[in-house]
Amino acid sequence: MKYRSTRRASPEVGLSDALTAGLAPDGGLYVPVSVPRVDTKALALLSNGVEVAQELLAPFFEGDPLREHLAEICAEAYELPLPIEPLASKDDYVVELFHGPTAAFKDFGARFLAAALSHVPRDDQRALTILVATSGDTGAAVASAFHRRQGFRVVVLYPDNRVSPRQAHQLGCFGDNVTAVRLHGSFDDCQRLVKEALADADLQSRIPLTSANSISIGRFLPQIAYYGIVALEFFRRSGGKLNLVIPTGNLGNALAAVYAREMRLPIGEIALATNANDVLPRFFDGEAYEPKESVSTLANAMDVGTPSNFERLRYLFPDERELRRSLFAFAVSDEAIRETIKSRYVRYREFFCPHTATAVHTLERLRSKGFTGDWAVVATAHPAKFESIVEPLTNSVDVPDTLATLLARESSAVPLENDYSAFRALLLSGA
Ligand SMILES: *Cc1c(COP(=O)(O)O)cnc(C)c1O
Repeated sequence: MKYRSTRRASPEVGLSDALTAGLAPDGGLYVPVSVPRVDTKALALLSNGVEVAQELLAPFFEGDPLREHLAEICAEAYELPLPIEPLASKDDYVVELFHGPTAAFKDFGARFLAAALSHVPRDDQRALTILVATSGDTGAAVASAFHRRQGFRVVVLYPDNRVSPRQAHQLGCFGDNVTAVRLHGSFDDCQRLVKEALADADLQSRIPLTSANSISIGRFLPQIAYYGIVALEFFRRSGGKLNLVIPTGNLGNALAAVYAREMRLPIGEIALATNANDVLPRFFDGEAYEPKESVSTLANAMDVGTPSNFERLRYLFPDERELRRSLFAFAVSDEAIRETIKSRYVRYREFFCPHTATAVHTLERLRSKGFTGDWAVVATAHPAKFESIVEPLTNSVDVPDTLATLLARESSAVPLENDYSAFRALLLSGA
């Protein structure tokens, strides 16, 4: 399998090169040149998630030296539980993607990327520094995945005082080869500093750098596989297709579900749930695509005004009418997020994080409009990670063991002014 840029102005590359590069040289995003088709009935005979992931991802690894390590990579990335649980409301399910070490779905992508990058041969003997700008969840997942991994160092930048207290604790609790930096600035400022460092040739010659941002193909591919595992599990149980409501910011997670469906996995409708950042709902309602500045909401990991993976979706459906038919989308206000968390607790004793609550609210709307069939909301983070929002509306949320382990560790972050030369000096100091 070759990978080409969505902008078609860079050469096609193999998987290893696409993984290490992150962004294509023309500024586009790497996509596989074709979408492999699978045989659902044959795949459904495999009962083990790791094996399903291997089968689904094998075509994407074909022709690349990483192919011989696929089994090991999948064993690392998919050993996490991936349950589909019934909700209290009839014919509704929840797919829980939050059983990884940092309690959000990004653990799958980060662990897969880390495992894959460990097998890409490098001539350079120096450690590779992974830079991550994070609004909360990505940074912890990447830090956890690369923590104590030979040959890597991680520098995570997050906006001070704009992540939840538990997110901040997680980011700072790794130590060793991981440095957490709390920036006096916004998430956009964090991204700007990372971009500037990646474009700084002199700096790159002194310390080899790469990024692990959400547009990396190494984080996108593994998400296809978990949708495959879940859809096949549901197919084995029910013989039918599962419809999904997916909380969406940059459209990475949801696009993976679209790819899984294009591969002919048993997935039916896909509905996106956004927070008040409503660029996608407007587009799928028939308006023009108009990226905007993001606004802050309770579902902070989805505060995105320019969903970066839209470019990949448009590549997949070059025909505008087909594109608009591929998905539908609803925006959910902070008020509705709060109301949903509260009412599901009062009625059913169910707990949801603010991101997942956008999907629950959307599913309630779809049901009230008369949508039938089996639907699952995709739970992107554990509610305990956002206890400062959830607990005032419910009761205390049980903390999963994995999260409790991280919260029990000491945590510290390096403060930094919003200034590139200060960031550069920090990177060069080896901190
Ligand atoms: C990152 C994140 C999202 C948004 O995912 P995208 O792939 O950017 O659409 C939703 N919920 C949580 C908890 C996240 O961490």
